[in-house]
Amino acid sequence: METDPVDKTPFPPGMVILVGAGPGDPELLTLGALKALQSADVVVLDALVSPEIIEMIPTQTEKIEAGKRGGGHHSAKQEDICNLLVKLAKENRRVVRLKGGDPFVFGRGGEEACRLVEENIPFRVIPGLTSGTAGPAYAGIPVTHRSVNANFAFITGHESPANTSGLTEDDSHPSRIDWEGVARTFPVIVLYMAMRNVDSVRKRMLAAGRSPDTPVALIRWATTPRQQTLITNLDRVSEDIKAVGMKPPAIMVIGKVVNFREVLKWFPDETLIPPPQ
Ligand code: SAH
Repeated sequence: METDPVDKTPFPPGMVILVGAGPGDPELLTLGALKALQSADVVVLDALVSPEIIEMIPTQTEKIEAGKRGGGHHSAKQEDICNLLVKLAKENRRVVRLKGGDPFVFGRGGEEACRLVEENIPFRVIPGLTSGTAGPAYAGIPVTHRSVNANFAFITGHESPANTSGLTEDDSHPSRIDWEGVARTFPVIVLYMAMRNVDSVRKRMLAAGRSPDTPVALIRWATTPRQQTLITNLDRVSEDIKAVGMKPPAIMVIGKVVNFREVLKWFPDETLIPPPQ
C-alpha cells in the first residue's frame, strides 16, 4: 500500500502500535491494521491471531509469537510480553503488537499500553472488530434486536487468577461478576473464553431464574473457514458441548437473539454442528 503524503497516522521507529486483528477473517481487518502490518519491522503475535491474517504479514517482517491460550499463569507471561515490547521499541524498531479481536476487549492491551507509558515509549492503538459481536454476526445472530433487547453484556468466562477471586470450575472462589445480577439484568449475554466455565455459568443463570430453554449459541473459530456453531439451550449446553466435542476458542451467546439464526444464517463456510437429540 502506498504511503499517504499527509499521513495522519505516522509509524516512526521506536513506536509500538497495539493492533486489533479482528476475529479471523482477513476481510475484517481495518485499513489502519493492514497499513501498520505492512510498515512494521517486527510483529509480536497473540496466540489467537488467525493463520489467514498471519499470512498477510510481509515475509521479510520478523514475527515473534507471544501469547497464551486458555488461562493459567498469565501474570508472569504477561510481564515477559511487556518486557519484549519495551526491548524491541528501545531497539528503535517499528513494533506491532497484534492481538485477536480488539486489543482492549479482554485482550490485556491496556496492561501493555500502561507499561509503554511507564517507559515513555510512544504508542498508538488500532482497535479491531471484537469476536463478541463479529462472531455472532457470522453465525447469523444480531447481538441486539429491537424486539428482544435494549442492552447486552460482554462477560469473561475466565477471570484472571491475578484478580484474586476468579470463577473456578468448582465454584469454590467467589467471582467479581455478579452473575445473579447479570442474569436478571441482561436479556442477552455474550461470554468470551466461554468453554472452561460453561457449566458454572449455566447453573448460575438457572439459579437466577433464567429459563432452561433460553437459547444458547456457541461459535468456535468464528469468521474463519473453521467456524463451527452449536445451537443449544441453557438446560443442555454442557452435555451438548461434550457430545459434539467443541473446544476453545468460542464465543457463547445466551438469549433469544440466538433464534434469529434460523432466518439469518448466511455464512457459507460454516461447519454446522447439529444439536444432538
Ligand atoms: N480481544 C479478543 C478477545 C480475547 S479473549 C476480542 O476482542 O475478540 C479470548 C476469547 O475471545 C476466546 O476464548 C474466545 O472466547 C474469543 N474469541 C476470539 N476470537 C474468536 C473467534 N475467531 N471465534 C470465537 N471466539 C473467539
